[in-house]
Amino acid sequence: MAKKIGILTSGGDAPGMNAVIRAVTRSAIRKGFQVMGIKRGYNGLINGDMIELNQRSVSDIIQRGGTMLYTARCKEFRYEPGLQKAKQTCIDNGIEGIVAIGGDGSFRGAADLSARGIPCVGIPGTIDNDIDCTEYTIGYDTAMNTAVELVDKLRDTAQSHDRCSVVEVMGRNAGYIALNTGIACGATYIITNEMPYSIDDLIAKINDCLKTGKHHFIVIVSEGIGGSEEIAKEIEKRTSIESRATILGHVQRGGSPTVRDRVAASEMGYYAVELLSKGIGNRVIGMKDNKVIDVDIQEALKMRKPFDEDLFKLAHEISF
Ligand code: ADP
Repeated sequence: MAKKIGILTSGGDAPGMNAVIRAVTRSAIRKGFQVMGIKRGYNGLINGDMIELNQRSVSDIIQRGGTMLYTARCKEFRYEPGLQKAKQTCIDNGIEGIVAIGGDGSFRGAADLSARGIPCVGIPGTIDNDIDCTEYTIGYDTAMNTAVELVDKLRDTAQSHDRCSVVEVMGRNAGYIALNTGIACGATYIITNEMPYSIDDLIAKINDCLKTGKHHFIVIVSEGIGGSEEIAKEIEKRTSIESRATILGHVQRGGSPTVRDRVAASEMGYYAVELLSKGIGNRVIGMKDNKVIDVDIQEALKMRKPFDEDLFKLAHEISF
């Protein structure tokens, strides 16, 4: 049984990462482990930049966005010498297991280190929900709620001025934030990578709505599609509606995590320590039917998550 474990946050930050750090630290201490907080993702593992965490070090962080351990991308860790340095840091510091919170890239790193004898468990932390082995990723709910709050504000001004607001939301190449934000904000049109769309169809829909007395519009565009300025210009050119584009950007990554993120973070963190305490590594934690599960990392990286096409169709059915 491992007696000392490390925890790190890697890749893009997400609200709820701190809640995971807290859950992992406290669960591990309960089991009699020492916990090392490794700074700036895999960089800290290569450079030996870490601090010991006790139950008080993780006080007053459950409600905070960002990550107290900082996060980063680390090129060196992708190659053998970097991996060997990281392994040596673990050996030198008596670290017998790692919890890595991040996305697919971070899990590839976790698999590589597991293969070199340091068991690693990945926890999905990304606002984009673009990790295929899990229905839910830490930060997703908070990001959607932030996006909804901001789009609601844009709607107030779009309504007052009879405008169309074209809003670009995050999600990398995945349209999950766009779809759910679009439904929750009553968007007239949602554009994502997963589903076919056409500007002609969008223009026709706006023109039809204008005939029924609708004067303001919300169009949600996912980050993977981009080009929201051009879409707004096209709407303005081909309808009588003035249009403005807004790219919400990194504001969606910050803020205090929602209940859902805090609870999921706590459950996943606890579960990850359960695995490491049994010496099990090379696993990713996931959520299936609202239950915490674990999956082999290589299997996890091969999975493909379906897009909810029915929900997408529903969104367009009820917005006109
Ligand atoms: P995310 O974890 O959010 O997907 P990245 O793809 O940037 O973010 O990956 C985060 C870090 O994980 C990288 O900076 C690198 O240190 C490590 N990593 C990514 N891909 C690999 C890989 N193929 N092998 C080893 N480490 C990797």
